[in-house]
Order: sequence, then structure tokens, then C-alpha cells
Amino acid sequence: MTSAQHEKDLMACVHCGLCLPACPTYLETGSEADSPRGRLVLMRKLHEGALSPSDADVTRHLDLCLGCRACETACPSGVPYGRILETAREQINAARVRPRATALSRWALLETLSHPAAMTAALRAARITTGGDVPAEAVRLLSGDPAAAGQSVCLPEMLSPPLPPIITLAVGAKRARVGVLTGCAMRVLFGDVNSDTVRVLAANGCEVLVNRRQGCCGALHAHNGSLAEAKSLARGLIDAFSPFYGLDAIIVNSAGCGSLMKEYGSLLSDDIDYAVKAKQFAAKVRDVSEWLDELGWAAPLKAPSAETVTMTYHDACHLAHGQQIREAPRALLSRLPNVKWVALAESEVCCGSAGIYNLTEPEMARRLRERKLENLLATGASVVATGNPGCLAWIAAGLRERGLPEIRVVHPVTLLAEALDI
Ligand code: SF4
Ligand code: SF4
Repeated sequence: MTSAQHEKDLMACVHCGLCLPACPTYLETGSEADSPRGRLVLMRKLHEGALSPSDADVTRHLDLCLGCRACETACPSGVPYGRILETAREQINAARVRPRATALSRWALLETLSHPAAMTAALRAARITTGGDVPAEAVRLLSGDPAAAGQSVCLPEMLSPPLPPIITLAVGAKRARVGVLTGCAMRVLFGDVNSDTVRVLAANGCEVLVNRRQGCCGALHAHNGSLAEAKSLARGLIDAFSPFYGLDAIIVNSAGCGSLMKEYGSLLSDDIDYAVKAKQFAAKVRDVSEWLDELGWAAPLKAPSAETVTMTYHDACHLAHGQQIREAPRALLSRLPNVKWVALAESEVCCGSAGIYNLTEPEMARRLRERKLENLLATGASVVATGNPGCLAWIAAGLRERGLPEIRVVHPVTLLAEALDI
């Protein structure tokens, strides 16, 4: 992002305040400095040099921002809040104003979560240490924040299960040829979602390639202002998929990853070697629900249960706000027989997971999760569908802490895979 573009982005805000009621942290604190408008003023002053990144208040209010981009959806002036925030966070990172231990733990978190092998090893070690499925202690160690003690992550029986086959043939006549991003958290914690994605795509006539060379997409780094690392990871992912440019689409089942991958053109716009390739790559990226809706669902479905099941849907921020995808997952899920859908109040308000936010800002993250759980419980649903690994893990952990593990939190593609009648 050039300085001129950043300035232009900042100037787009006319301070109307229409975004305030959409902002989760403003809803919780009622403080202007914790609202999009207030933060934009701080970021503008930071850019103009009227405020310093070493000002603790600036860092505090920007750190408390979830990066959920609900303000972008609400803004009538088209302020690109997400990329403004990334640039401001890069400025703060460059000024090295955080205590050394905090900076180190943030770096360690990003490195661990963006390398599936490292994440798997850390979680296996945590499981051995704690002897349980919910290693609250591991979360505390990873976050480097004593306040995180008592938090939990629901671990599956098997971490990093085998990847789907490199090639899966289409069932019936081939309608398209697609690649699938396997991701980092998705691959380690929700490997079954990757398998379900491949199964559902194949059942709908897609030949599916799961490229083994792919790495992290860089989303966590970008959202936390580590833009040089995000660019490097983006270039690596583009290179990894380049032998497969004949693909009709690159399918993503993680909202946060898909959101950044669609923005690779902007992220790498000043890179002479990658600017064009990044745009071509980004144009092929589709969320799995978006792609299936675009392609047209063709596979037969059976009822998931003999009895009617009550389900609800939570909008992952980087799907609803980052990619403006709301109807496609609902339209697909509405095909499930014997399901009663109940609308979730404040469905588009962040659950508090927000990448590494639940580890770096545990207090606000938990407040937002409580708010989400209250709304979820009011629906009476026994199944909650949502399309992002962070939301899946964070909401499930909250339900477990409340003694409600029987309420299932599940990716939409898994519900569709379970109902396939082939
Ligand atoms: S990104 Fe989310 S938390 Fe941050 S200012 Fe916008 S609405 Fe508020
Ligand atoms: S970000 Fe948009 S909605 Fe919010 S104050 Fe600025 S112009 Fe208004």
C-alpha cells in the first residue's frame, strides 16, 4: 500500500457515524475511541505524524479492533477499513513499541498457526502435558498472556488427519476442474472439513485437485500488520498453484483465508513480478458456498435425521463483511431436508474469535462470545453452522465451557456432505 493510497483511503471517511452501531467493540464499550470512526481519526493522526505509534492509547484502541470489517458493510462512503487497519498496524509493528515479550509471543503465535506441522506438534505436546482434549494451559502458553488462563480449545481426536487425495474425479459428467486450499487451522483442527469439501465438490461434478505444495495464505499475518510476511506467503501460494492455472476455480472453505486471497491483487499491486499473476489468481478464488451456488447444486440429498432438526447459521465476519457472502451458504443449507432453520439475532456481529484476537485480547473476545452464545441459545437450535475454523473452534469451546457440548458447531459443507445421497 503506497502512502498516497493510504491517505486517500483515510480521507474517504466523512465521520458520519453510520458504522458505529455495527461495531462489536463499540456495542460493548460505548466508547468513541473503540468505534470505527474513532479509530479512523487515530489512524489518520498516526499517518500525519500528529500521534506517535508509541502512544499507548493509540495501540490500545487499535489492538482492541477485531478487524471484523462490519464497519465496511455499514459504511455508505466505501471506506476500506480493513486495509487501512492493516497499514496502521504495520506502522505500529515497525515502531517496535510493544514490550519485547508481547512482540515475541505475537510472532510465535503467527509462526505456529501458519505452519501446520508446528501447530500440530505444539498441540500434541499440549495434549500430552495436560492429558486432556481441552488444553487451556497450552492456549495460555501460546498466547504468552496469563489472562488467557482458563480458555480452551476443543481438539479433535486426530490432529492433522491425512489430506484428501491429490486428484478426486467428478461423480458423473465433469462440469469443472477446481483446486482446494487446505489451509492451516482447517487442516490441523478440521481436516474432515477439507475431506467433506472435496466430497461435495466431486458429487456436484467437479474434478478436484489438492495440491501438496501449498502453504499458508498469509491472512493472519496481513490482518495483524505483518505485511511483508503476508506478501511472501501470498507469492508462495500463487507459485504453488501456478502449474494448475487451467483450474476453473480455487476453492476455499475458510472465510479468513478466502477474504485475503481475493485481495492478493491489491496486496501485491506494487510487486513488478507478481502484480498480474496475483490478480489472475485472485479472480479464481471462491468460497466453497459461493462456488456451489454459482455452479448450481446437482447432487441428491437425503434428510440428516428422521426427526426435524433445528439449526441456525452464524455469519463468519470475513465471509459476510470481507467477501459480502451471505445468501449462498443459506441457499445451499436450505436444501437440507427435515431441517427447521431459525434466524440468529446479531448473526453478523463477530463472535470474538477473529484470528489470534481471542488469544491476544481474551477479555473482549470472551465478552463477545458470551453475547453470541446468548443469541445462539435463544434460537433453541441444536446445530450451529458457520464457515470459518476460528468461529467453529471458539464457539464450540464456549458451549463446552457452559456445559453444552451437545450443541453441535459445524461447517456448512460438512452438513451437506453428511446429507449426500450417493
Ligand atoms: S473492524 Fe470491526 S471491531 Fe474494528 S472498527 Fe470495524 S466494526 Fe469495529
Ligand atoms: S467509516 Fe464510513 S460510516 Fe463510519 S464514520 Fe467514516 S464514512 Fe461514516
